[in-house]
Amino acid sequence: MKVLVLNCGSSSLKYQLINMDNEEILAKGLAERIGIANGLVKHEVAGKDKVIINENMETHKDAIRIVLNAIVDDKHGAIKSMDEIAAVGHRVVHGGEKFTSSVVITDEVKATLEECSELAPLHNPPNLMGIEACEEILPNVPMVGVFDTAFHQTMPKSAYIYALPYELYEKYKIRKYGFHGTSHKYVVNKAAKVLGKPLEELKIVTCHLGNGASVAAIKHGKSIDTSMGFTPLEGLTMGTRCGDIDPAITTFIMDKELLDTAGLNNLMNKKSGILGISGVSNDFRDVEEAADNGNERAQLALDVFHNRVKKYIGAYAAIMGGIDAVVFTAGLGENSPETREAVCEGLEFLGIEIDKVKNKVRGKQTVVTTDDSKAKVILIPTNEELMIARDTVALVKK
Ligand code: AMP
Repeated sequence: MKVLVLNCGSSSLKYQLINMDNEEILAKGLAERIGIANGLVKHEVAGKDKVIINENMETHKDAIRIVLNAIVDDKHGAIKSMDEIAAVGHRVVHGGEKFTSSVVITDEVKATLEECSELAPLHNPPNLMGIEACEEILPNVPMVGVFDTAFHQTMPKSAYIYALPYELYEKYKIRKYGFHGTSHKYVVNKAAKVLGKPLEELKIVTCHLGNGASVAAIKHGKSIDTSMGFTPLEGLTMGTRCGDIDPAITTFIMDKELLDTAGLNNLMNKKSGILGISGVSNDFRDVEEAADNGNERAQLALDVFHNRVKKYIGAYAAIMGGIDAVVFTAGLGENSPETREAVCEGLEFLGIEIDKVKNKVRGKQTVVTTDDSKAKVILIPTNEELMIARDTVALVKK
C-alpha cells in the first residue's frame, strides 16, 4: 500500500511517498515559495538523481499537482500512475480539544478544523488548503489527518489549565495544547524498544530539539505535560522564539517600544530565542561556532538554552516521580553532542551519566550513557512522516 504524506506550511509543502508494505520511502521532496515568485520543487527518488523543478505555484493546489506529476514522471518518477496512491496522510498542526487521535477526513472534520484555525492561524489554514487541493486532484483517495496536538490530549487538567480567569478557558479554549506530538509519540515508542520494557512501565522525558523545540513528560506511555502551550511559543528557548518569559514583559515592551500586538508577536516569535540573545543566527550550528570562537553572547545564548532544557527535565522527573530515560531527537537533539552533554551535565542525581565517547555520534539511534547509568539517555532520529503514514494505513484499513 502506497501512502502520500503531506505537510503543508504557509508557503511550502513537504512530501513523502512511502511504500507501507516495507516502510520504504519511494519519493520525497519539498515545494518552496508557494504564492511567491521563483517557485521551486526539490524532488528525490531512491536510486535516481535529485531534480529541481523551477515552476511558479500560485496555490497549494498548483504545488500538489506539480509534486504528483513529478512522482509519476517517466524519467524521475517513483510510480507509474496516481492510481497507485492508496491514501494521503496530512500533518495538521492544531486539533484543538476535539481530536485526541488521528481521523479520516470528512466534511465534519474539515468544519472542526476550520474552527481550530483560530487557535493556529499560521498553520491550520495551509493544512486545510492541502486537504482541499487533494480532494480535487485525488477525489477518490481516502485521507487522514494526523495532529501535532493529539498525543498531548492525555495531559491532566492540572497541567493544561493556566491560572487565568477560568471563564477564558470556557469562552476561548485558552489552555495548554502542546505540539510536536507525532514526534514525541514516535520516539517514546522507539525508546521503549531500546530499553526492552513495555512503555506502560516507563517514565520518559522526550526532548524534540529542532528549530522549534519542546520537551514532554511521558509517564506509562501517556503525555502528562509538555513545554509548548496554547501556541508553540511557550517553553524552551528556540531558534527565534523566546519561550517562557514573565508575561508582564509583554505589556512593558509594548509601552516602551510602541509596539502593537502584531509587532510584539513578531518580536517574540521571529527576533528572540538564540538569535535574539546571540545576535548571530537562529541556527545552532552558527551559534556553536561563534561561541567556540569566543563570542560571549553566542555562549550565553547556548547557556540559556541548555539551562532551560535541563530545568524542564528536572521538573518532569519530579512530576513523574522518577525517570527511566531521556530521549533526544530532531535537528539539534540528533546532531549536537555538545547540546546533549551540556543539558545532561549535573543530572547525575537523577541517575544520568553521559558517556562522552558514546555521545560523539550524530543522527544514529544510540544509547549515549554509561553501562552503569541508572537512567538512560537515548538519541533517536525522529520520523514524523512514517508515523503519519502508519496512522493513515491503520485508519484506512478500518
Ligand atoms: P529541525 O527543525 O529538526 O530540522 O532542526 C533544525 C535545526 O537543527 C537547525 O536550525 C540547527 O540549529 C540544528 N542542527 C542541525 N544539524 C546540526 C548540527 N550538526 N549541529 C548543531 N545543530 C544542528
